[in-house]
Amino acid sequence: MGEALSRVLDPAALDACDKPRGRLVIEVPRGWAGAVIEVVIPARVACARCDGGGCDGCGRRGGHRVPGDPTTRRVRVRLPSELESGVVLRILRPFGEDGAGIAQLHLEARAGAAASEGVTWCEPAMTDAPRIEPAAPRASASPLDTWRAATYATIAVALAALVAFAVGR
Ligand SMILES: [Zn+2]
Repeated sequence: MGEALSRVLDPAALDACDKPRGRLVIEVPRGWAGAVIEVVIPARVACARCDGGGCDGCGRRGGHRVPGDPTTRRVRVRLPSELESGVVLRILRPFGEDGAGIAQLHLEARAGAAASEGVTWCEPAMTDAPRIEPAAPRASASPLDTWRAATYATIAVALAALVAFAVGR
């Protein structure tokens, strides 16, 4: 039944993929809409096809194991700017190409009073005005300049030592 429902909701090719699909429900504070969050994925997540009921996709286990320790079982996502009714973020290969375990993670985010365990705020929501990073001029130092700079640095160090010596007396 779960599989039929997900086919209706997700007509895309994603559903053609028969690889393991996990589902995780998290709560985030309302004010986090649009922000980037990091989520530590539990070592076991519910099967997104059957939601724990057991199906062919999860070998009747109802869930999938996510290998690795908490430092590797992490994903970073930007939340949509509208969270109120809850959103499902599909993350393909959440742990990289060669990541064992699940091929898709359906992260279901809902607005709540507090962040769920393992969910941390990373970056603020993007504002309308794009942040413009000043382009740093990067002049490549010629060998002569490098030599000069090194000489000046040596002189500076020598002077500093001299001053320190004078002060010390
Ligand atoms: Zn299943």
